[in-house]
Amino acid sequence: MRNMRESEIAETVVPPAQGEEEHLSLALANSAMALPGGHTIDLLGTPAQANHWLTAHGLAPVEVGMREMCATQVRSLREQIRSLFASRAAGLPAIPAAVTAVNDAMTRVPTAPLLQWDDKNGPYRATPHPTTAIVDHALATLAADAADLLTGPDAERLTACGSSPCNRYLLRHGRRHWCSTRCGDRARAARAYARRTRARTE
Ligand SMILES: [Zn+2]
Repeated sequence: MRNMRESEIAETVVPPAQGEEEHLSLALANSAMALPGGHTIDLLGTPAQANHWLTAHGLAPVEVGMREMCATQVRSLREQIRSLFASRAAGLPAIPAAVTAVNDAMTRVPTAPLLQWDDKNGPYRATPHPTTAIVDHALATLAADAADLLTGPDAERLTACGSSPCNRYLLRHGRRHWCSTRCGDRARAARAYARRTRARTE
């Protein structure tokens, strides 16, 4: 039996949620998924997977040699963005650290080789390591997209999928508040089951 890579499983089983195509930050937020039966999929689980995810979303060349440190940064931004989406969807105040993290990611990209000055070598201009530059740029793009989404006209439609245990976010269309047909079917089945159970006990 062939072992499927996690990203392949996610692509075959779980299509992108409504809005992911327009908003990379939504795709990032949904890159760790809780599936029925206690399964989880993390599309950024390893540095290679994180690299693949960035490449698939046009944020990195095919192979940039990402290390665990870079993957951790992407996963960490994902958690901060998820926290902001949760706050926005629930109409609650944001966690200040999450706002700071998004702003840090947007402003960390150097536009010029920075001046460094150390005791041994004196002053010099430092160009960041190419991988660092790519990852920083990807993080900035994702953070800016999250800020756009949260403040733009689509913010009203930002919704947490209403089909337990799914933890994805989507941009709602009409009254539909689940991220996929699959989640919708499961939510309807759960409602029907609850109705039947109620009818039996009444
Ligand atoms: Zn869902």
